[in-house]
This record gives sequence, C-alpha cells and structure tokens, in this order.
Amino acid sequence: MSVAWIIAPTQQVGGLVEVADELGYTKKFVTLAQGEVPAEAYAPAVAKAVEVSEGDVILVPNTQEGRVLGGAIAAQHNAPIFTQVKKVTPTSVQVARYGGVSLYTFEYSSPVVLVVDGGADVDVASDVEISDGAYDATVTDVEKSEGSSSNLSTASRVVAVGRGFAKEEDLKLAEDFASTIGAEVASSRPLAEGLDWLPRDRYIGISGQTVKPDVYFAIGISGQMHHTVGMQDSGTVVVINSDEHALMFDMADYGIVGDLYEVLPALTKALA
Ligand SMILES: Cc1cc2nc3c(=O)[nH]c(=O)nc-3n(C[C@H](O)[C@H](O)[C@H](O)COP(=O)(O)OP(=O)(O)OC[C@H]3O[C@@H](n4cnc5c(N)ncnc54)[C@H](O)[C@@H]3O)c2cc1C
Repeated sequence: MSVAWIIAPTQQVGGLVEVADELGYTKKFVTLAQGEVPAEAYAPAVAKAVEVSEGDVILVPNTQEGRVLGGAIAAQHNAPIFTQVKKVTPTSVQVARYGGVSLYTFEYSSPVVLVVDGGADVDVASDVEISDGAYDATVTDVEKSEGSSSNLSTASRVVAVGRGFAKEEDLKLAEDFASTIGAEVASSRPLAEGLDWLPRDRYIGISGQTVKPDVYFAIGISGQMHHTVGMQDSGTVVVINSDEHALMFDMADYGIVGDLYEVLPALTKALA
C-alpha cells in the first residue's frame, strides 16, 4: 500500500489529509517538537526521517516552513517537488501557474513532494516525531502584526472591500455588515498596499491571499484579473458596484448595481 507522508509542523493540515484520502493511501504524520527551535531548522532531520518508497507521496503545507521542509525532503530523496497543487492522482498532478490563471497537469513518477494548501486544523496522531537533529537556531523574539490573527483561507464568508470606499472610516459599513453575517473582512490590494487601511494579509489576489468561502461579497471592487484569481473558487459571489459594466459582475451569482453607501446599510439592516 502506498503511503502519503503528511509533514505537519502545525495541525493546519486539513487540505493535506483530504489529498491523502482522495488518493486512498495510508497516512503517516510527521510532527515536530514544539519549542524555541524554528521548524525550518529541522529540515535535514525531517528529510532523513521520512522513509519513502516508490509509490509514496510526501505532502507539505503551503507555508513558509512547509516549503522549506519540502525542499529538503525532495533533495534528500532525489524527488521532484510541485507547488500550488490543486488536484492529485497516483500518476498526475495539476498545479496552478501565474497565480491561478492557468492550470498545468504533469505526469509524475513517485516518490514526489507536493506542496498543498494547509486548510483547517485536524487531529494529528504523530507517527514520527522529530525532536533531535535541529540546526542551531533559536527564536529569540517574536513581533506580531495586528493582522496575523486572520484566517481567511478557512473562512466560510468573506466581505471584500475595494476602492469604491472613499474614506478609511467608511470601512465601518463593511465591518458592521461582516459582523452581522459572521464574515471575515478582506480587500483588494490597493486598500492594503498603498492606502494601508487593512493589514497586508487581508488582501485577495494574485499577489495576496487565495480564498474559497461559501459566500464572497465584492463591494466596490472593479474585478481585475489580479484580484479575481484569488477568489474564483468561491461558492456564491455577490457583487455590489455602482458601475453596471464593472468586470466583477462577470463573476457574480447575484449582482446589485448601486451605491454601496446606500446598499450596504440597507443589507445590514435587513439581515440583522
Ligand atoms: C503585478 C500586479 C499584481 C497585483 N496583484 C493584486 C492582487 O493580488 N489583488 C488585487 O486586488 N489587486 C492586485 N493588483 C491590482 C489590480 O490590478 C487592481 O488595480 C486592483 O485590484 C483594483 O482594486 P479595486 O477594484 O479596489 O479598485 P478600482 O479598480 O479603482 O475599482 C473600484 C470600483 O469601485 C466602484 N465604485 C466606486 N464608487 C462606488 C460606490 N459608491 N458604490 C459602489 N461601487 C463603487 C467602481 O465602479 C469600481 O468598479 C495587482 C496589480 C499588478 C500590476
């Protein structure tokens, strides 16, 4: 039976478990000792501990440390590594390129290392725990930014705001609406990079976050491809824009042509 090795620096490996289950492979979890040593410092130890055989896949989360660990494992086992993985079969892998604008399918011969979006927390029963063999690196200080608490990738409802909002204080309209429907607030890039109205981990798109909530509200967002590749896998898309020709309406299941300053308070009131 082939094995799906799941490298789990944290419990946020729900997406990796889904891939392993779809393949029908036996799952083996590799965990790291939690402490002052950064996960990346364990890369050589993890690479040696994973005993891959032909037919196996190694799944690493699409995080900074996951990508480092994946690279070390690939080098140790002379295996190929694919990033931005969307679909996997025992012989082929589909990966996103250009921020999701194109999907490429490659045939592979295993073992292979696949970098997969981590997703929700799961219970991880460690089969191999790595606690020794770390390089000499210790965390001495941690500065947290305000935005680091967001978990847009697992949000089921997202309210995304764009340059249709004229002033920073107007974002309160979106925050009130989001809290009424239990949604996370996100944005287009200009609001997070440039205007700095929201933290940088809140913008959606080719150079920002990728989300696939059940419901995505795009409010005052024009719908440039740079933005839409980050939300194109969303369930129901609701667009509010005063320009009936805005590209964003091409993505909409429900569209409201109107001034967000009138529509948004009315929606909040109706759903409260
Ligand atoms: C290399 C590169 C990478 C990029 N990466 C990203 C990325 O990752 N994410 C991203 O979002 N962008 C990205 N961009 C920028 C992108 O191209 C767009 O410029 C950006 O998405 C536009 O943001 P917006 O829709 O908020 O603003 P605009 O394009 O200015 O649109 C504002 C919209 O609000 C509407 N509006 C105005 N007033 C109202 C009102 N009162 N009520 C309702 N609607 C109103 C307008 O009709 C308009 O459609 C990138 C650009 C480049 C070059």
